[in-house]
Amino acid sequence: AFPPPDELLRGLDPEQLEAARSVRGPVCILAGAGTGKTRAITHRIAYAVATGVVPEQQVLAVTFTTRAAGEMRGRLRALGAPRVQARTFHAAALRQLSYFWGEAVGGPKPTLIDSKIKTVAAAAHACGFQADRTELRDLAGEIEWAKVTQIRPVDYETAVTKAGRTPPMPSRDVARVYEAYEELRGERNLLDFESMLELTMAMIHESPRIAEQIRRQYRYFVVDEFQDVNPLQKQLLDAWLGDRDDICVVGDPNQTIYTFAGATPGYLTGFCATYPHATFVRLVRDYRSTPQVVRVANTVLRGSGSHTTPPEHRLELVAQRPDGPEPVYTEYDDEPAEATSVARRIAALIDSGVPAREIAVLFRTNSQSAAYEQALGDAGVPYTVRGAAQFFDRPEIRAALHTLRGAAQGDGGAPMVQTVRHILQQPQIGLTDTAPEGRQARERWESLAALAQLAEDIAGQRPEATLADFVAELRARAATEHAPGFEGVTLASLHAAKGLEWDAVFLVGLTEGMLPIVYAETPEQVEEERRLFYVGVTRAREHLSMSWALARSPGGRRTRKPSRFLDGLRPASPSLAAQRGERRRKTARVVRCRVCGTTLLEAAERKLGRCLDCPSDYDEELLERLRQWRREVSTAQKVPAYVVFTDATLQA
Ligand code: ATP
Ligand code: MG
Repeated sequence: AFPPPDELLRGLDPEQLEAARSVRGPVCILAGAGTGKTRAITHRIAYAVATGVVPEQQVLAVTFTTRAAGEMRGRLRALGAPRVQARTFHAAALRQLSYFWGEAVGGPKPTLIDSKIKTVAAAAHACGFQADRTELRDLAGEIEWAKVTQIRPVDYETAVTKAGRTPPMPSRDVARVYEAYEELRGERNLLDFESMLELTMAMIHESPRIAEQIRRQYRYFVVDEFQDVNPLQKQLLDAWLGDRDDICVVGDPNQTIYTFAGATPGYLTGFCATYPHATFVRLVRDYRSTPQVVRVANTVLRGSGSHTTPPEHRLELVAQRPDGPEPVYTEYDDEPAEATSVARRIAALIDSGVPAREIAVLFRTNSQSAAYEQALGDAGVPYTVRGAAQFFDRPEIRAALHTLRGAAQGDGGAPMVQTVRHILQQPQIGLTDTAPEGRQARERWESLAALAQLAEDIAGQRPEATLADFVAELRARAATEHAPGFEGVTLASLHAAKGLEWDAVFLVGLTEGMLPIVYAETPEQVEEERRLFYVGVTRAREHLSMSWALARSPGGRRTRKPSRFLDGLRPASPSLAAQRGERRRKTARVVRCRVCGTTLLEAAERKLGRCLDCPSDYDEELLERLRQWRREVSTAQKVPAYVVFTDATLQA
């Protein structure tokens, strides 16, 4: 029933063909977005399996997101290789770790940490530090960075200086929290992503028997998005490989978007130095996007500085598809206006025949999602938020999980799908056969329906799956932030959109301070933001919309500027602000700092009548709170003056 081997090579261009035919030994595919890298490697795997070079169970394909892994499995199934394992690094490691846990470690299996921030909060508290959400998030990020670069708490202070990083709090304090975090993790028997990989690696290094068994199981490795591999993942990969070299890596240096978390694109660009006999393939034909979109992508690349991308890696794309609509650039007065208009335009696209699942709204930070959830809901457009935090925190999902867990304990082996449905339809949870009206009821229904759908999907793949398996899958998804999807417009951060594609992509909130994000300070950090923009642009097949808003709220000061990445892209027409903003601007009262005399633009400073950076007789603690407030609300470099800063806020 499966296609003969040569059939699998059809539909590949000469370079993709070269990669697919090089079934053995090291292979490196270095190419831009949409050039068919993922396609080339899935065909290569299927071809290697079909020609008998490798049994499909011995292939391990690794990608970065659960969704990308799922897509790869889907493509491989269609190509006649349904048993190939396509997983994220974490899922692959977790599987091996669970399998060998008894032999290698022993004792009760650890619980996956579902929120690192909570554990970091407990650690910070144990050290006597008061930290707010932003600080905790930064601390969690810093600990993650230290762990993936394999820096122990005792070495942290020296290492952070050497790496030229700015720690979120004094490095000695970070080191203390880090140490407390690790202790807490041990006491509570919790496993985070990094320790998952560390333990797997340690297990392979320390037990020759386990190493032998794992290496006998997996003989053929493929890694997609290799530009974002971090040192820990690279070492795990090396441990899996041993002294063999059947490894194919694929990536695009221009899409490196995780260096802040320790990603090291040097492993990709230096691959051929590590393996001088490697087959090296470069792809330039862009099969994904229209020439109009490709033009934008190439312009973004040309604008990039020389900081991280050497000229030989500036991969210009050559469009293959026929012409499509021109990209649309839109400036709005304020954020709600932007969200409402984008939602209306999406509704119109759906009316014109573009399926909702083929449309995405992409933004820089997850906090931007809420406005679009609201606007799409109001416009009656179905949507899914990629990112599990919202999903697994929903009250109906919590209630469902609670009941499912209880039922799984006393499970008598009843058919899984029916049991799940039955439980979800109990009155206290309340899944109905058809979607109700009213926005809130519909959202509730959609999330429960997604759970029921997931049960069906799992049963489709593994008919023997039990209720306990379903509950375990949900736990793993909560931990890996992978919510089950409902077919609707995708709302996602740019980071989560990597590797994916849609007919229509709306890049929203493109202002200075948002993209590049306000805390991107060094040229390297700004370049990473530009690459993020490039990733966003290249997700679009046909329709590409880029928009920004000048003020945060209606009537607010229009202090925001369009992102610098739009320079040279958007038409040089006078901005809406210039046309319409003058009258309002005149009415804004000039407030100067009474210490240094500069004009004050930020609400907090205007309220105080001085800038937060000048020395003063104000209570230092209050000032610190103000600075903190500024960091939090400062989604743009200048906080609009009319974000209300009341006396109540000051006294809070
Ligand atoms: P990214 O860098 O974003 O991950 P990619 O290089 O992995 O992109 P793919 O996702 O493999 O690109 O391919 C992009 C699109 O182009 C897909 O829809 C794919 O099916 C199509 N495509 C790839 N190669 C060809 C080809 N030779 N002929 C026709 N279509 C192709
Ligand atoms: Mg890809």
